Amino acid sequence: MQANDLPAHADLRIEGARLWNSLMELARIGATEKGGVCRLALTDLDRQGRDLFVAWAKEIGCTVRVDAIGNIFARRAGLSDDLPPVVTGSHIDTQPTGGKFDGNYGVLAGLEVLRTLDDNNVITQAPLEVAVWTNGEGSRFVPVMMGSGVFAGAFTLEHALAQVDREGVSVGDALAAIGYAGERVEAHEVGAYFEAHIEQGPVLEANDKVIGVVQGALGQRWYDVTIDGLEAHAGPTPMELRRDALLVAADLIRAVNRIALDHAPHGRGTVGWLNVHPNSRNVIPGRVKLTVDLRAADDATLLAMDRALRETCAQAGLPEAVDEVVYFAPQPFESTLVSSVRKSADALGFTSMEVVSGAGHDAVYLARVAPTAMIFVPCKDGISHNEIEDARADHLEAGCNVLLQAMLRAANAARVVTQTVTEGERT
Ligand SMILES: [Zn+2]
Repeated sequence: MQANDLPAHADLRIEGARLWNSLMELARIGATEKGGVCRLALTDLDRQGRDLFVAWAKEIGCTVRVDAIGNIFARRAGLSDDLPPVVTGSHIDTQPTGGKFDGNYGVLAGLEVLRTLDDNNVITQAPLEVAVWTNGEGSRFVPVMMGSGVFAGAFTLEHALAQVDREGVSVGDALAAIGYAGERVEAHEVGAYFEAHIEQGPVLEANDKVIGVVQGALGQRWYDVTIDGLEAHAGPTPMELRRDALLVAADLIRAVNRIALDHAPHGRGTVGWLNVHPNSRNVIPGRVKLTVDLRAADDATLLAMDRALRETCAQAGLPEAVDEVVYFAPQPFESTLVSSVRKSADALGFTSMEVVSGAGHDAVYLARVAPTAMIFVPCKDGISHNEIEDARADHLEAGCNVLLQAMLRAANAARVVTQTVTEGERT
């Protein structure tokens, strides 16, 4: 075994109760009656959540800075403080009917790692940072994952600042209003990025595993499809003389499902939105608009699914019906960091399995500019973006311990030095 297979301080453990209590305290800001959280990006509630995080970070001696899109970086100095930092984080804005854990867990797990190191007087070689990325959810402002997207150069700062909500308030004005329009514009170098997150799906629970070792994020292709038929009276028009757009749509919906099944295990196909015209009980539908969302783990598969969708439409006599509107490339995570997550789970005695992320995460953008990996923990019934979103305290604790060990490995390469001389090194 190589020296760096086992990090120094392999026996360090986070405080599960403190992590849980912090999650519950943050969840009080914007708490809903049904037990969820409504804390939309760049609202006053978002400010309160940010202020709480910043206060907690300063309590343990972190320096805090804010960049021009409002991303917060809480930094804990390293021995070689000019090394690029090992960063972890996520978002603390929520959906309008969101839960306590989506995003918030990744931020507070990072904070708990720093608190644990602080308690034990451990200084890592490279500095550590916990990032709070602005507008992870994209609910009030589009695009989604805005702060990490600007950081990674997926779109420009100017583009992000100019986006407006439904009331016409811009991101720039909203940032200024809550006091989180920072000055620094340039993204800084990141040595490694980890993000802990609830799975937001049912795979870990179904397989009775505690840790999801995330291999990467699925690529996505989104389409708008328009199907034209002919409106006519439901009574006088015989079946064989109809051009029923909804009937064609029904076949297409089945086809999308089959295309995904044909590309198992990671193929996904969803028709989530349907607009039927004129949507009247006794009129044969004359026009249907629908959306198609295709996802796959690699580009070749995603392209094969794209071709299958277009062929299906062509065979239905609708060669022009498909309009592609969004493409996200599949994003594999960095193999040494991914295996570090697996090793950490093994060393801590947690059951784990390889999973893929079907959802977007800030980590997907970070992966474009830094070695990146994610740690998933189960959430109850796989449900998120819902006020009933729930997760077990012991699972959250386990994921945070994996995060701690993986960050220690990355920050130290081979060694950790402690302030307490007597404790010495355990390599
Ligand atoms: Zn999230």
